Amino acid sequence: MAILNMRFLPDPILRKQAKKVAKVTPQLKKLVENMVETMHDQNGVGLAANQVGSLQKVAVIQTPDMEEPMVLINPEIMKKEGERQVEEGCLSVPGYRGLVNRSEKVRAKAMGLDGKIYRVNAEELLAQALEHEIDHLNGILYIDHLVSHESLYKITYVHDDEEFEEDEEGEEEEATEHVAEEAPTSSSDD
Ligand code: ZN
Repeated sequence: MAILNMRFLPDPILRKQAKKVAKVTPQLKKLVENMVETMHDQNGVGLAANQVGSLQKVAVIQTPDMEEPMVLINPEIMKKEGERQVEEGCLSVPGYRGLVNRSEKVRAKAMGLDGKIYRVNAEELLAQALEHEIDHLNGILYIDHLVSHESLYKITYVHDDEEFEEDEEGEEEEATEHVAEEAPTSSSDD
């Protein structure tokens, strides 16, 4: 297994349509394994193949309450229901988060590593991740779904810095480390 190199905006591969996978090969299984390892390394809840330089229609998702990663080969959204506004980030757009329009419920279908088609009904974070990753495979990024042009925020730690100033002498270093650890886990970057 290996951690793959991430691609970041404005890498043109992020705007390309991924190609349908014809069949599950050992190479594809290896790509999926490496994508899962890369997603875990980046503390993401999902990763699409073009984010690691491959144009195969493959994504992986693992939300905090899932024990195993979900492997999505040739995934498609079948049905969307409702609308909601959620905050979102993307591993390929580091340093930013935005308020986006997403569906409340999503039904998707995909092929698993066993070559069988399965369906998934999702809401909340899993629905958001499905829309986000399947968008990636169609060259779409979350910044295309911003509620408004002002809804993209640069991530800063101004608030946290203010808190540190109130801390006792000598605790500042420790507190800074604490934030660095917490920031990725509290995000839903994918
Ligand atoms: Zn993303």
